[in-house]
Amino acid sequence: MASSYENFVNGQWVESETNATFEVRNPARTDELVGEYQDSSLADVEAAVEAAADAQDDWAGTPGPERGDLLKRAGTLLEQRKDETTEALVREEGKTRAEAAGEVQRAIDIFAYYGQKTRDLGGTVKSASGRNTELTTRQEPLGTVALVTPWNYPIAIPAWKLAPALAAGNTAVVKPASEAPGMARVLFECLEEAGLPDGVANLVTGSGSDVGRPLVEHQAIDGVSFTGSTAVGTQVAQTVTDDLKRVQCEMGGKNPTVVMPSADVNEAVEIVGQGAFGTTGQSCTAASRAIVHDQIYDEFVDTMVEYAESVDIGPGLDDPDMGPHVSESELQSTLEYVEIGRDEGATLETGGERLTDGEYADGYYVEPAVFSDVDNEMRIAQEEIFGPVLAVIRADDFEDALSLANDVDYGLSASIVTQDTTEANEFLDRIEAGVAKVNEKTTGLELHVPFGGYKNSSTNTYREQGDAGLDFFTTTKTIYRN
Ligand code: NAD
Repeated sequence: MASSYENFVNGQWVESETNATFEVRNPARTDELVGEYQDSSLADVEAAVEAAADAQDDWAGTPGPERGDLLKRAGTLLEQRKDETTEALVREEGKTRAEAAGEVQRAIDIFAYYGQKTRDLGGTVKSASGRNTELTTRQEPLGTVALVTPWNYPIAIPAWKLAPALAAGNTAVVKPASEAPGMARVLFECLEEAGLPDGVANLVTGSGSDVGRPLVEHQAIDGVSFTGSTAVGTQVAQTVTDDLKRVQCEMGGKNPTVVMPSADVNEAVEIVGQGAFGTTGQSCTAASRAIVHDQIYDEFVDTMVEYAESVDIGPGLDDPDMGPHVSESELQSTLEYVEIGRDEGATLETGGERLTDGEYADGYYVEPAVFSDVDNEMRIAQEEIFGPVLAVIRADDFEDALSLANDVDYGLSASIVTQDTTEANEFLDRIEAGVAKVNEKTTGLELHVPFGGYKNSSTNTYREQGDAGLDFFTTTKTIYRN
């Protein structure tokens, strides 16, 4: 019998005013009910925002180190629960145990990182006027913030928004994605046990339309940090900007890896394959386009096909290379894109079939797909698929490869595989992406450096993570004291 989980509002675990719940099932075995969550509505949002707004002054007035210590304690508590949380994440979202363990560790590290950061907000600057003036800056909290998160990194993303928000003295309402709301709940349990004051952080589960939208539109919300699709993020940014609220939307990607003739083909295939099929292709930074120099194109495609066919697919808890999709609708969307690719005239070299036999019968499994003969104008080369589908595009030379890499509406992550330093430098200078890598996969981020996108991947105003992660959640006051 699966548990029923409540919202966390004003320091209490409470049921929604709607008395309705929704189910989350294990995407690897859909007969397993993972949990039931509150299908909340406007009244719940209002209660949570009111609690957060009421708690704001006291939390902002709490000394930074005290706020930081609370975050550190929460991180330690999460560490103590790492194994059970990892397993729960696999059951809820479908990723492999190794991927889930890495993600939970990331959340632990984020709490430790921002727990320490509360100690050095603001500073003192010498006056340039020569007057007897002391200049100081203070990074004051933005206020009460709405944090809206997607399902694909269901513990790391809420952590990388909530930790800097709280560290900087904001109060928050978190709205996690309905596919995987249980991980945000774990964060809240740790924060509660660590001594979170009432109202400082609140959790409301439910749909985007009934919870997400009224939350971001609420007049008492001072800032909105959203991560999700470009379609929803654009809507959110437009609505919120009209209200003159601060907004940060981190959105989709169509991330290229350029492969040059100096690359070792096996190494390049490994880099692209991990980026394309890791987390079942369900990463904003997934390598969905390989742009390969003509000289090694055919060898790359053949080796990539071997790689894709060797990917071990199965339930995440059995430690395969690749787990299922998170949901039937995400799986169907991937299958549709495979059809679109075929109809557009690309060659499906391997994969793209739903797996339904034996252990796969009850889950959302698909074989990783490799398309060759892809024209960059095709939809499979331009649209975010969010599944394990790789488009391999032929490039005549470096200039052509770079121009194909940039010829897309997104600009989140990009990489080049080459042994030529000049080429690598040129790529880093001219690639239109918020994250640019050399001889590395497009996925995988470090928490102490900024992360965000160019073009339609981001509202491009503030970065997340690292020191930059605090900027969104603070307003600078400059003080002149003579
Ligand atoms: P989504 O846009 O469908 O949903 C994201 C969140 O927004 C969910 O909590 C959802 O309930 C909520 N929402 C939906 N409609 C809303 C509305 N009108 N107002 C307010 N909130 C609303 O995205 P998803 O399917 O959960 O996640 C996958 C997407 O997230 C992909 O496009 C992926 O690239 C992107 N993503 C981006 C990053 C990044 O940092 N750039 C990281 C992870 C995922």
